[in-house]
Amino acid sequence: MRVAVIAGNCKMNTTVSEAIQLVNEMRQGLDEIDSVDKVICPPFISLATVKELIKGSSIKLGAQNIYFEEKGAYTGEISPLMLADLCEFVIIGHSERRHYFNESGEIVNKKIQAALKVGLKPILCIGERLEENETGRTEEVVAEQLRSSLAGIDYLGGLVIAYEPVWAIGTGKAATGEWANETIGFIRRNISQKYGKRVTQDLRILYGGSVTADNTAEFINQPEIDGALVGGASLKASQFLSIVKQTSEIKQVR
Ligand code: PEP
Repeated sequence: MRVAVIAGNCKMNTTVSEAIQLVNEMRQGLDEIDSVDKVICPPFISLATVKELIKGSSIKLGAQNIYFEEKGAYTGEISPLMLADLCEFVIIGHSERRHYFNESGEIVNKKIQAALKVGLKPILCIGERLEENETGRTEEVVAEQLRSSLAGIDYLGGLVIAYEPVWAIGTGKAATGEWANETIGFIRRNISQKYGKRVTQDLRILYGGSVTADNTAEFINQPEIDGALVGGASLKASQFLSIVKQTSEIKQVR
């Protein structure tokens, strides 16, 4: 059985002191729930501080991005080695990075390889845009994203996939549980063709896109969905806690 994951992506929100406040508000509640992997992904500048705050708890830390070179003259970038020292997970290929920062499948692939090399667990984000969804191209798009992101990668390590339809991110218009379940089923079958059933059975695939405390159960009750990548709702301690709590009640694995 797969342990569910709820990952909170703060995006470019929270100053260091706001991140401290947010984590302080949810630390104890999250720590009490042990049947779910709880991952907080604050901005880079708060990683070290949050790491100290969650020390000794069961909360895990993730970054929101990575650069693929180990070190050198890449002003402003953060390397895999730097992150491996701080956190366990790293979000790669988020649609905001693909869209605003022109991250291609090739770049995403290099980032995944670089993360896996240092033992980081990538949270690989894939998902179709609205017009691709409306023209029935979802499976074609996510299959191509999987192909390019994972090209040349034989070992997935602790990789997690987040299916995030672009039209559902930050819009308040979540997909339906049924749609997300079907697409995630497709993703699992696609991965199975390349990596085999064994790897696929253990692979955690999340849904992301306007998940809130109100619609969590709709997604988590679906058999193919192993958790959620949560953006906006991760900035409110009570919402995030409720999402994690509901998930632990629905998927009791540990
Ligand atoms: C995200 O940032 O990955 C996300 C899913 O955002 P939101 O929950 O706000 O839609």
